[in-house]
Amino acid sequence: MGNSVLKYKDVFVSLLGERYVLSESEQLEGYAQDETRDLGYLPELVLKPKNSAEISQVLTVCHREGLTVTPRGGGSGVSGGAQPVEGGIVLCMERLNSICDINQSNMTVTVETGVITQEVNEQLMQYGLWLPPDPGSAAFCQIGGNLSEMAAGPKSVKYGAFKDYVLNLQVVLPDGRITWTGANVRKLACGYNLTQLMLGSEGTLGIITRVVFKVVPLPKEEILVRLAFSSLQNACDMICKVFEAGLTPSELEFIDRDSIDAVSAAKKEASNAIDANSKSASEVVKEVSDNTEVLLWIGFDGANRDLLLEDAETAADLAQAYGVLEVLVAQEPAQKRRLWEYRHLIGKTIMEATIFRDIDLSFPRSALRDIVVGTKQVGEKYGLRTVCFGHCGDGNIHIQLLRDELEDAKWDELSTLAVTELYELTTAHGGAISGEHGIGCVATLGMSLMFSEVQLELMQGIKTLFDPKNILNPGKIIPDLSR
Ligand SMILES: Cc1cc2nc3c(=O)[nH]c(=O)nc-3n(C[C@H](O)[C@H](O)[C@H](O)COP(=O)(O)OP(=O)(O)OC[C@H]3O[C@@H](n4cnc5c(N)ncnc54)[C@H](O)[C@@H]3O)c2cc1C
Repeated sequence: MGNSVLKYKDVFVSLLGERYVLSESEQLEGYAQDETRDLGYLPELVLKPKNSAEISQVLTVCHREGLTVTPRGGGSGVSGGAQPVEGGIVLCMERLNSICDINQSNMTVTVETGVITQEVNEQLMQYGLWLPPDPGSAAFCQIGGNLSEMAAGPKSVKYGAFKDYVLNLQVVLPDGRITWTGANVRKLACGYNLTQLMLGSEGTLGIITRVVFKVVPLPKEEILVRLAFSSLQNACDMICKVFEAGLTPSELEFIDRDSIDAVSAAKKEASNAIDANSKSASEVVKEVSDNTEVLLWIGFDGANRDLLLEDAETAADLAQAYGVLEVLVAQEPAQKRRLWEYRHLIGKTIMEATIFRDIDLSFPRSALRDIVVGTKQVGEKYGLRTVCFGHCGDGNIHIQLLRDELEDAKWDELSTLAVTELYELTTAHGGAISGEHGIGCVATLGMSLMFSEVQLELMQGIKTLFDPKNILNPGKIIPDLSR
């Protein structure tokens, strides 16, 4: 346990100003949770520095005095990364919110890491540029959280994750030193890759304060196809064939029948509450038929609409060969938004319906059917409802175990057993326990299933090198770091 931090409040007030040091319990409550809502830990102090120099001063004090610090971005994480499991200080990044430079010649953008993700693209689009990874939480997560969680999104099947766009990072180390990790270049062959080491480190190695991204031209045209299948097996077989056929989809997304039912129920409830006009607008897209087991979305983007239409036709032909029930195509942005509706709504629907445990499995694409079938079996075994949805083109789906009416102890017991079996399921298929949501404090139990003692020792060694006093985000990632 770190020292009690309250007695240092005046020190932090002198560094940051009274307004940016929170200690009242009603103020602290908002920082006890992220979107991992079945957990919560109250911090003792919340600090809101405005730049890397202030963060450096704060960490210098914390390092000297042994005070624990949990960095916090938008608080949208679903693995508990921003939760202060040992109390102490929550360090909010929201005031580091400048887009510092857009360099059109080099096609780069430099931003402070407290910027809301969506705002980066809003600025870039004015220059015809684009940072492709597009997490579903882009409207409320921060760039620093994206980098720290190795975040990605539907576009990652073609364009990769945030990590693939990072050229250089500015980091404040746990002892307060400020450093850059690389250089603002697209190719770098100069020793250990400190930049990539920081990515996915979930605030355990340093505070990322600035990032230089390379960016790409914004595609001019986009087409989206929605496919309905009555057979999980056929839908899964079709996914692999898309790539074997030489197609390069810009999205390839999946939701299962339980997800469809959850969204349909929420839509029905909402439509009872809205007026007749908006109801007729929402009915432009046909509802999903009862015999649909899986919906897939496959997108194509580029410069030439005719070529994209050819790709869409090839995908539709493939789907016919796999017994598709229905093919819907959207070419215009408004149509596309409506066609995307079920995929767009599933995360929000579950968040509003019940407490859930998110499991973010990553596996070889061809294992999708086994993972979904295995998930349903595990759900039945423990009496837990499950929904499966996500980035099937990348072999990465989000399984959510739904708590519904279970009382605390039962939920803890059953969800832990179910999660363990799902981790075993993915590792048996050569998969990973997280593809983009990170480990945080909820998935540490899976680390020893996935990694050998040697691998965990190396990770522990890296942590100790960066943060010998273990003040930065303790209790995250490596199981035996929980003190
Ligand atoms: C509805 C919904 C949809 C989502 N969709 C996606 C999706 O499509 N793809 C995806 O990958 N994820 C998705 N997520 C998960 C989540 O949004 C991502 O993990 C996101 O990257 C977290 O960013 P954040 O700013 O909210 O970080 P937080 O939750 O605040 O923090 C996450 C971790 O990063 C650390 N951290 C934050 N900022 C910094 C910093 N500057 N320096 C060092 N450490 C830092 C924290 O300590 C913590 O460990 C979704 C979540 C929700 C609720």
